[in-house]
Amino acid sequence: MRKWEENVRRVVPYTPGEQPKKERMIKLNTNENPYPPAPEVAKLLQSFDVTQLRRYPDPSIGDLIREIAAFYQVEPEQVFAGVGSDDVLAMIFLTFFNSKLPVLFPDITYSFYDVWARLLGVAYETVPLDERFLIRAQDYNRPCGGVIFPNPNAPTGELLPLETVETIIRQNQDVIVVVDEAYIDFGGKSALPLIDRYDNLLVVQTFSKSRSLAGSRIGYAFGSRKLIRYLNDVKYSFNSYTLDRLSIAIGACAIRDRAYFEETTQKVIAAREWTKQELSRLGFVFGDSMSNFIFATHPQIPAVQLFEDLKKADIYVRHFQQPERIQNYLRISIGTMEEMQELISFLQQYKQ
Ligand SMILES: *Cc1c(COP(=O)(O)O)cnc(C)c1O
Repeated sequence: MRKWEENVRRVVPYTPGEQPKKERMIKLNTNENPYPPAPEVAKLLQSFDVTQLRRYPDPSIGDLIREIAAFYQVEPEQVFAGVGSDDVLAMIFLTFFNSKLPVLFPDITYSFYDVWARLLGVAYETVPLDERFLIRAQDYNRPCGGVIFPNPNAPTGELLPLETVETIIRQNQDVIVVVDEAYIDFGGKSALPLIDRYDNLLVVQTFSKSRSLAGSRIGYAFGSRKLIRYLNDVKYSFNSYTLDRLSIAIGACAIRDRAYFEETTQKVIAAREWTKQELSRLGFVFGDSMSNFIFATHPQIPAVQLFEDLKKADIYVRHFQQPERIQNYLRISIGTMEEMQELISFLQQYKQ
């Protein structure tokens, strides 16, 4: 090892899902939305004045934050925005997780949390989900440096009732509690109304899944004015221009179309429920996902084998090596109804 390597901040990075460059494939591996963004976004791009790009974007992301605040009926001072919720979450780790006591999150969850904790040297402890892959509120009732969990959880898709979310927040009023709601629009109840009652709560959402804009990298968080101020102080100390001009304009435009948002999320939900029925008929076992994916296992079919065979047929799903107790599961994102039908026909023939 070279001498200078002793001082490298080394981490095992997060592994994002594959993005194969193929014309024809069924891509059910990264929980993207199968529908295009709201129609007004295409018009915006056609008329976008490129000369604007020579100027820096608005560091306060005002146009987008005002639209988000209007949609969710909160004050702009209660909203923080970033380059996807990954950026927002990283900024939250950097700002608020700074205790000697460990930050708590589930053992089976979004695999970026432990990466940020290790990168930033944040103490953390994982809390095992129960045998049905559910979060238990009583496990989060102890001194800690903060709490973070997705609701619905990833990659299980399991939704925690809002009362249980509130119990976890109530038990932890001396630290920051983060509810990562990347999938909340697919049938869950948001913890957003609780920000007025708990000044230690942050609710994080994204345009990547329910708003079909993973490619534009837009995420946001709701919290008390004080929390948002602290987050902005750290943001301005790190990179004052996060979202670029085009993404700010795209996000502000997309969120205005409530009808399209509701129509496309309903289509995803309908395809998910149909897929659950069919998978169950084929002997797959899975929880009652309230997200845009299903986390399934089959008592007779090894997950890795099926993963590889699906890939040969140009159907991409996601398999996680870690932790061990999910090694025989596949996470299947919900595509269009036609894509789900193709997946099911493949599985019907595969079983015979
Ligand atoms: C997809 C996802 C994110 C990150 O989404 P962005 O594309 O960065 O907005 C955050 N948390 C969970 C649980 C996710 O599944």
